[in-house]
Amino acid sequence: MNERRPTEPDEPVEYDRVDVSVLVVGAGAAGARTAIELAERGIDDVLVLGKRGHGDAHTTWARGGINGALGTHDPEDSPAIHAADTLNEGHFVNDPAKVETVTEQMPERLRELDEWGMEYSRTDEGEIDQRFFGAQSFRRTAFAGDHTGESLLNTLVDRAQELSVPYRENVMITKLVSDGDAVYGAVGFDMDAGEFVLFNAGTVVLAAGGHAAIYDRHTSRDDENNGDGAALAYDAGASLMDMEFMQFHPTGMAVDESDPEWEPWSGRLVTEAVRGEGGRLFNADGERFMERYSPDQMELDARDVVARAIAQEVAEGRGTENGGVYLDISHRDADFIRERLPRMYERFQDLGVDMAEAPVEVAPTSHYGMGGVAVDDGGETGVDGLFAIGETMAGVHGANRLGGNSLAETVAYGVVAGERIADRADGPGEVPEDLREGLVEPHLSDLNTLAGHDGEHEAEAVLADLREVMWDHAGILRDEPSLREGLDHLEAVRGRAADMRVGPVTSESFELAVDIGFSLVAAEAVLRGALEREESRGAHYRTDYPDRDPDWRRNVYFDAADVGGMTLRTEPVDEPSDAVQAALDEGHELDYHQLE
Ligand SMILES: Cc1cc2nc3c(=O)[nH]c(=O)nc-3n(C[C@H](O)[C@H](O)[C@H](O)COP(=O)(O)OP(=O)(O)OC[C@H]3O[C@@H](n4cnc5c(N)ncnc54)[C@H](O)[C@@H]3O)c2cc1C
Repeated sequence: MNERRPTEPDEPVEYDRVDVSVLVVGAGAAGARTAIELAERGIDDVLVLGKRGHGDAHTTWARGGINGALGTHDPEDSPAIHAADTLNEGHFVNDPAKVETVTEQMPERLRELDEWGMEYSRTDEGEIDQRFFGAQSFRRTAFAGDHTGESLLNTLVDRAQELSVPYRENVMITKLVSDGDAVYGAVGFDMDAGEFVLFNAGTVVLAAGGHAAIYDRHTSRDDENNGDGAALAYDAGASLMDMEFMQFHPTGMAVDESDPEWEPWSGRLVTEAVRGEGGRLFNADGERFMERYSPDQMELDARDVVARAIAQEVAEGRGTENGGVYLDISHRDADFIRERLPRMYERFQDLGVDMAEAPVEVAPTSHYGMGGVAVDDGGETGVDGLFAIGETMAGVHGANRLGGNSLAETVAYGVVAGERIADRADGPGEVPEDLREGLVEPHLSDLNTLAGHDGEHEAEAVLADLREVMWDHAGILRDEPSLREGLDHLEAVRGRAADMRVGPVTSESFELAVDIGFSLVAAEAVLRGALEREESRGAHYRTDYPDRDPDWRRNVYFDAADVGGMTLRTEPVDEPSDAVQAALDEGHELDYHQLE
C-alpha cells in the first residue's frame, strides 16, 4: 500500500508504507538465522532488510571461527565447559542463562550449518575441524579457512532463499515506531531511490550489528557498527546494558600511516587464528614479552590481557616504529600458513610481506562492544514486540568476549528469538494515529530538513571527531578526569552535528549524518558507563581503580529519562547453573604448551 503526500513546506513528507508481520532489521548472520527459523515454523509474512546489498553484511568480515563443543579433537569438551570458559573470560558479569542458551545450542547449530552446505575446514577423516582460540580450554572453534564469516553468511543466505524469505537491500532504518511500551514498526529510507518508508510491523527484530566503529582505530567497516541497533532501541524505550565494556583486539595492523598503500589498513584485524596457529609476539627488543604477563597461556591468553600487555610494551618504549609489536608465525612453513590462514597470507603478500619469512606489526584496535540492548532470555527487550539479537544484544559476553562466541551468538539467538516470535506473531497491526502524527511525521520532516542542509561542518569530519574523542578518552586505559573530559568533548561534537553540510537522501553524507546520531548515543553510554564502573574488570581498565571489586559483580543499565537525559542503574548478576558451576570448579584451562 502506498501513501503519497505532497512535499510542500508545512505539509507532511511523502512516504511509502509496507505492512509486514515481522520486520527484521539486519541481514547479517543473526537476522538471516531468525528469518530462517520463522520460515521453518511457517511464519512467512516476514521482511529482512539491510543497509547494504544482499549477502553483504559485516558478518562476512569474521575470519577466525565459530565456537561449539563438538569435541572433534577433544571429546572431553562439553557445553558446560564452553559456558565456564565464557563466564571466566567475561569476568562473571555475563548473564549465565544466556551463555548456557548459546553453548547448549551450538553443537546442533554447527551440524545444521554443515547440512546446509557450510564449507568447513575438515580433518583427514572428514569431520568438522576445530582449532585453538584464545582463552578456551579445548579446541572448539570450527572454521572455514580464515573466511568463516563469509562462508557462514553465504550458507544462511542460500538457506533463506531456498525458503523464499523476502529480503530488501539498501534500506536504512532511522527510527522505531514505539510509545515506550510496545513497538508498531519502523521508519527509514530507500538508499537507492531516496524514498522514505514506514514499515508497519507487529514485531521488530534489531539484528543491526554493534558499535565498535565509534573508535578511531577499529576493525569494522567504516560505514557499519556505528551503534544503529543500540541507539534505535534506546530511543524506542528499551534499556542498554554493559556499554562500558569495549573489546580492544590485541592484533590490529600497525602501519606507517604516511604511506598511502598501508594507511587504509591501519587498525584492520589480524585474526586471532594467527596466534591460534602458533604465532608469537615479540617487542622491538626481540623479547617474547608475554612470558612476563602470562607465562602459562602466553599469546593465547584473553584478549584484554594481551591487548593491555602490548599497550604497556609500547607505552614503556619497547614498541616498533609504527607503535606496535611484532607478530611472528614464520616458524611455521609456508604451506601450513597458506592452508590455515589463506586470506591473511594473501593480504600481507600483496603489501610485500611474506608471513612465512617475516613478522608483521600489530597493535590493539577497537573490535567489539560487549554491551548493547538489554533483552530477556528470548531476546525480547522491555518494549513489547521489540527484539534485539546478535551483536546488537547484551548479556552473553560480559566484560570480555571469547573469540568465536559472537558468530555462535548470532545463530543461537536467531533460533531462540525465532521460536519466541513464531509463538506471538499475529500480523502487522496498525500504527496508532497519535504515533503517526506525533512521531512518524515529525521524524520524516526532520529527515527531510537534514537532506541538503547547508551547515558549517562536513558529516565525515564530525564522525572522525567523535571517533577521536572515544579513542583518546574511553580507550584501553581509562580514568575519571579523562572520561569526564571525553563527555565534554562529546557535547562539542553534538553541537557540530547540529549544523552539518549534508547531501540529498541518496548521498553518502546523508547516511553519515544519520550514523552520527546513532554514534552519539552509543558513545555517551560507553563514557558514562566507564565513569560509573569504579573498578577494573575484563576489557574495562580504570587506572584509578586498577582492581576488580567483588561488589561490582553487577550490570550497568542505561535508560532514557523524560527529564535529564541518560540515567544509569545497576543490578546484580545471576548465579550460573549447577552444571556450569561444577565445570568452573573443575578449573579447566588451555595447556598452551600443546601448541609448541
Ligand atoms: C574483522 C572482524 C573479524 C571478526 N571475526 C570473528 C570471528 O572469527 N568469530 C566470531 O565469532 N566473531 C567475529 N567477529 C564478530 C562477528 O563478525 C560479528 O559480531 C557478527 O558477525 C555480527 O553479526 P550480526 O548479524 O549481529 O551483525 P552484522 O553482520 O553486523 O549485520 C548487521 C546488519 O544490520 C544492517 N544494518 C545495520 N544498521 C542498519 C540500519 N540502521 N538500517 C538497516 N539495516 C541496518 C546491516 O546492513 C547488516 O545487514 C569479527 C568482527 C570483525 C569486525
